[in-house]
Amino acid sequence: MGMFDTIHFEQPIACVVCQAPILSTQTKAFECILENFHLGDCIGHAEEIHIVREGLYCDACHAYDRQFVYLAVYRGILVDIALDLATAESQLRTFSFERLILWYHDLYAKRIAERRDRQQVEHFLHDMARWYEEGYDRLSQEERDQHRLFFFLHRAILENAASPIAAIRTYLDQQQTGDATAAD
Ligand SMILES: [Zn+2]
Repeated sequence: MGMFDTIHFEQPIACVVCQAPILSTQTKAFECILENFHLGDCIGHAEEIHIVREGLYCDACHAYDRQFVYLAVYRGILVDIALDLATAESQLRTFSFERLILWYHDLYAKRIAERRDRQQVEHFLHDMARWYEEGYDRLSQEERDQHRLFFFLHRAILENAASPIAAIRTYLDQQQTGDATAAD
């Protein structure tokens, strides 16, 4: 109940009432799993070719349903976020096979990156569980140095953490710093 997905726009859309930028819209038209979608994301099944109309909500003046976006879904991929139905329809009508191949190319790269990110998190969790389960937190520095190759990637975090919670906090902070750097 009350679940939705969020569609993020490439460019902010100006509110027709107060001109404030609207950055995204919520929709219940897809899986409703609190997922964030951008243009080019796989949003549904491969057989799906359709247009979804969503009313916009302005955070600044609380205007609701005064303007709409038309989400064009081609073969399950969000290929356009149009401001009018005619544009969305024309996108679906004229969508080229070559363009679809490019979207899939990008989706594949994204999948590889997300899988790598997930593996890194699992690796950290694995190292942390082992660190505490096998008592490395209670060893002296000399004893730890005998296992120098273990926990290679996460050793600094684990050695300096006062508790598992502190280790998780440091890890999350480092991830966030990394994301911010990557976005620059
Ligand atoms: Zn507004």
